[in-house]
Amino acid sequence: MRFLSCFGRQKRPPEDEEYAPLPGSASCVFCDVRPETGFKVAYEDDELVVFHDRSPAAAEHLLVIPRRHVATVRDLRPADAGLVSRMEARARSLRPGPDVRLGFHIPPFSSVHHIHLHVLVPPLKTKGVLKYPVASRTDGGKGWSWFVTPAQVVAILEANGRIGLGPAAGRKS
Ligand SMILES: [Zn+2]
Ligand SMILES: [Zn+2]
Repeated sequence: MRFLSCFGRQKRPPEDEEYAPLPGSASCVFCDVRPETGFKVAYEDDELVVFHDRSPAAAEHLLVIPRRHVATVRDLRPADAGLVSRMEARARSLRPGPDVRLGFHIPPFSSVHHIHLHVLVPPLKTKGVLKYPVASRTDGGKGWSWFVTPAQVVAILEANGRIGLGPAAGRKS
């Protein structure tokens, strides 16, 4: 199952082609993020690893991942709300600023199937604007989008919901 979840059969968007596993490798590329495997690591602790995206869509583009393999946002459970909050807090402490854009892709729009939080430091490139669109409702909930912010994910998990492309209530509702 681990193998299948890491190598979904969906076509990868061009942004993540460089993350294709090495031929003959049976492991998930994001389960082995180290300088020795070609990653530019910006931060790491027992739970999280932060590294530079190989195909930046903004002035600076980091990815925050848990060491534990979780395939996509759809695989998160209510008990994972704390993990998502810690991923967000780490991103914000490393790259503070109100205009820093944070979010996850939602299947089938996620490419590498090991959950990763995108951290986009402005200005965004055109592909960044197109591929990482945040849509919010007035209550802070999620709008229609294939990209979801950590706060939206936490609100959905705390309401026992599942993350999909459609809108979801925010915390204030
Ligand atoms: Zn993995
Ligand atoms: Zn992604």
